[in-house]
Amino acid sequence: MNVHDSEYMATLLEEAGYREASTLKKADVILLNTCAVRQKAEEKVYSLLGRLKFLKKKRPDIIIGVGGCVAQKEGERILKRMPHVDLVFGTHQFYHVAEFIEKVRQNRARICCVDFSYQLEPPRRIIPLPRESKVRAYVTIMQGCNNFCTYCIVPYVRGREVSRRSEDIIEEIKRLLDMGIKEVILLGQNVNSYGQDRSDEISFAELLRRINKLPGLKRLRFITSHPKDISKELIRAFGELETLCEYIHLPVQSGSDRILKMMNRKYTRSDYLRKIESLRKVRPDIAISTDLIVGFPGETEADFKETLSILKEVEYDTIFAFKYSDRPPAKAVTFKDKVREEVKKERLERVLALQAPITERKNKALEGKVVEVLLDTYSKRGNQLSGRTRCHRVVNVAAENGLLGQLVKVKIKEALAHSLRGEVVS
Ligand code: SF4
Repeated sequence: MNVHDSEYMATLLEEAGYREASTLKKADVILLNTCAVRQKAEEKVYSLLGRLKFLKKKRPDIIIGVGGCVAQKEGERILKRMPHVDLVFGTHQFYHVAEFIEKVRQNRARICCVDFSYQLEPPRRIIPLPRESKVRAYVTIMQGCNNFCTYCIVPYVRGREVSRRSEDIIEEIKRLLDMGIKEVILLGQNVNSYGQDRSDEISFAELLRRINKLPGLKRLRFITSHPKDISKELIRAFGELETLCEYIHLPVQSGSDRILKMMNRKYTRSDYLRKIESLRKVRPDIAISTDLIVGFPGETEADFKETLSILKEVEYDTIFAFKYSDRPPAKAVTFKDKVREEVKKERLERVLALQAPITERKNKALEGKVVEVLLDTYSKRGNQLSGRTRCHRVVNVAAENGLLGQLVKVKIKEALAHSLRGEVVS
């Protein structure tokens, strides 16, 4: 979501006459779009802002702005703590970024605007242009969250759920397809609760059906889903819609019913497992990834073993595991029995050690197989083309630059820890 919000701001600023600077030192305006979901991310923002102080000292005319979730959470505190910051704008204010910069420039006044506007359509309709890829684009379909999981700051910094009108979403996707986009990733903090906040809208599954019919679309994905909102209609869509890729990110967070209840996740371990089973019934080759938290307050060794056992039971393709950290004002901050840091660290290591061979085995199973890859970027080392399979695995191939942006068939030669290596066969 943040990457896409940054694309939005970059497009707005280009329309207002700004150009991307080649280096930080050459920039006249420096904007940080920030994430507050974990404490570490927030610390990084303050650390980078601290370093920017020296740049501002040398060039007092530059404008430094902070947007996104840390800006929303901290507001005026950033201006107090960081006298060299000129602008703080919240998650609902980024449409106005160019106006804010202009005001700072003209009045040399410092601005802080973190009001929630609950308006998802920009004042002027623009298509945020993808930066990282010419063939893959993000489209926000809703934002905010009503769930208040007890560890999570998102409802406080993104506000309540607001769904966009389906006609606006489809119009935006049509325009992206006209520009040559082949893969669309629908975005929302709680993407599959799309439409539940308004009586005049279609369901998420129906939205997928309508998008699936658009000429030119090759691949459709969405992120991030809540297990409680995985409907039967959505599960059926995985078996029926040809553009809907066989991949789902479905955060489980814990394998223990006691902890899931304390987290206010609104599903049990068996509800979750039933949904995984149904998804695999309609799409046996579906790749599944998850998020999980270790060391939630009160998590005992027995609770933690339930998390280990769900990993063994589901056999995820990949996982994103994190140590719990307090995120005020989320409710779990007040929970007793905080787990000691060294225990959290040890549990995280055990989770990762359990998952590594599962991921490796699943990747190895692809060796020798021919898969469809959308080549849309260069590999990290820059000497190969890189893309993703329909099941979201990264594949690097030695190929002509002319294949950039193409869907190709690739034979997988080697499975590495975090990517696959292959050769184009057609
Ligand atoms: S569903 Fe829970 S974890 Fe996800 S954004 Fe909402 S409150 Fe946070």
